[in-house]
Amino acid sequence: MLDAEFFRRWMTATAAAVDREATRLTELDSPIGDADHGSNLRRGFTAVAAALEKEAPATPGAVLVLAGRQLISTVGGASGPLYGTLLRRTGKELGEATEVSEEQLATALRAGVAAVAKLGGAVAGDKTMIDALEPAVAALDTSFPAAARAAADGAEATVPLIARKGRASYLGERSIGHQDPGATSSALLMAALAEAAST
Ligand code: ADP
Ligand code: MG
Ligand code: MG
Repeated sequence: MLDAEFFRRWMTATAAAVDREATRLTELDSPIGDADHGSNLRRGFTAVAAALEKEAPATPGAVLVLAGRQLISTVGGASGPLYGTLLRRTGKELGEATEVSEEQLATALRAGVAAVAKLGGAVAGDKTMIDALEPAVAALDTSFPAAARAAADGAEATVPLIARKGRASYLGERSIGHQDPGATSSALLMAALAEAAST
């Protein structure tokens, strides 16, 4: 079973990964965006880590709802409301339980990803974070490492795609040949989940 401590580890590991990879995320956002994805997420997840330390929520659901709220209030870019919705919706699905099963987490994350797709209007193949998140939640029934691998593969598979949502879509065919920054950060989020599960 997964307790609040597990979910805090997941968020802390994500904050560390985003901090480590911020330059790369911003570089990916340069040719097809406005070069702020790394700094946006660093600001957001720094706030998440600080809020979790201060408030120490007692349940898995409360950890994710608090994290999502922090992202929405601190990240100005499109990714703030989208990741905020992912975590908040997933947290709400987990309810008030003090421990949840891996199956419950997989089901809740699927609802979270569906909420992101609804909010952003993106479907698979639009060259967004959905291209990493959807294969990841599909692979969650296998294992956390399988989900992380599926997200990384999904992010790499955005390279030849034409962007259909977000800033990159303004470039049309010129978005081809670049990896989507949001799909790349989604792969970090899923890698952090596997990391939290292995410690
Ligand atoms: P902004 O584009 O506002 O500067 P970020 O640079 O932080 O915000 O985030 C850009 C990422 O957000 C993109 O790489 C993409 O993955 C994701 N994104 C943007 N718009 C959408 C959308 N409508 N649906 C899903 N993901 C989106
Ligand atoms: Mg940007
Ligand atoms: Mg921006």
